[in-house]
Amino acid sequence: MTKVLADYAASDATSLGRQFPEKAPEHRTEFQRDRDRIIHSAAFRRLEYKTQVFVNHEGDLYRTRLTHSVEVAQIARTIARALSLNEDLTEAIALAHDLGHTPFGHAGQDALNEKMREYGGFEHNLQSLRVVDELEERYAEFQGINLTFESREGIIKHCSIPNAHNLGEVGQRFINGTHPSLEAQLTNLADAIAYNSHDVDDGLRSGLITLQQLEEVTLFAEPYNEVIRLYPELNERRTTYEVVRRIINMQVSDLIETTKQILKQKQPDSINAVRQAGESLVLFSNNMHKNNLELKRFLHKNLYRHYRVHRMSSKAITIIHELFDTFMSDTRLLPPDTAQKAKLLDTELGISGKARAIADYIAGMTDRYAIREYQRLLDPLEPT
Ligand code: MG
Repeated sequence: MTKVLADYAASDATSLGRQFPEKAPEHRTEFQRDRDRIIHSAAFRRLEYKTQVFVNHEGDLYRTRLTHSVEVAQIARTIARALSLNEDLTEAIALAHDLGHTPFGHAGQDALNEKMREYGGFEHNLQSLRVVDELEERYAEFQGINLTFESREGIIKHCSIPNAHNLGEVGQRFINGTHPSLEAQLTNLADAIAYNSHDVDDGLRSGLITLQQLEEVTLFAEPYNEVIRLYPELNERRTTYEVVRRIINMQVSDLIETTKQILKQKQPDSINAVRQAGESLVLFSNNMHKNNLELKRFLHKNLYRHYRVHRMSSKAITIIHELFDTFMSDTRLLPPDTAQKAKLLDTELGISGKARAIADYIAGMTDRYAIREYQRLLDPLEPT
């Protein structure tokens, strides 16, 4: 079956291309090639050992950044296909969207951002772009993996104006208020659908939140009541799965139907018209948007700020701060290639350059590597 893309979809024909021009791929589309480069990157493999909410060693069944990214790709591809959008580009953006995450989830990123405040700050979204543009070292002729403009545009979801000025063309939309492709817009929302629903699942599995608590949340209560009505004898685990997949399905269907209506009304005739539309064209209905916010608030209050999550976050902050300070005061403690980079960037950009090289090194660590590195460096009884 040949897949027909809508006029407003991204395509090879309208792609703004790569920073370093390359011959067109023989057996794949340009965006398939992007996706494949992402899958083969070292940063992608490291996602397996990076925290989503629960630190990797807390249990084998919780989501990691890797399984989260795969779930985002699954949800995003469903939406893309239903809207006749470019599934390959959607998948590439989904798989790359978290490549720049530090170890230990948001606690790790906030800790590194605090340390980098005087040196230009640290933002995981910008870092994801930095990974594919600069930090992956796999090609003879360029730094990074030389993705298409459309994949890079999709990776950079938000960005401050000062940072946007340093990003060249891919930063322009934050300055002139235009929008990214529909594929990028939908992947952003697929990310939220994925984490809201899998955090409910992981939260229940861990025992940090309960079914009783969740009954006050509309998005949960409706499918939950349906499931216990249909299957009153079902055990708690299977009940949870039945509810969680309904939550995903309700959101995906709502997003597809609402967006179809918007596209029918606005009739963008090209990806360029999408970029110039003056507003996002991929949206939830007002009602679903409201219910999503309610669930998000619930998770913030009851899961992300749970004292057991906070204990791990607090350790994470100590580890990131100590690693950063230790390397800043003595770059000879860095592995030789990172020390070399720190020296080079220090010469080029001064102390912020050195700090950036150290932030890149720390951001690239997995949870367990950061813990080991902390022990090796700061515990006198540990072997170095
Ligand atoms: Mg994500």
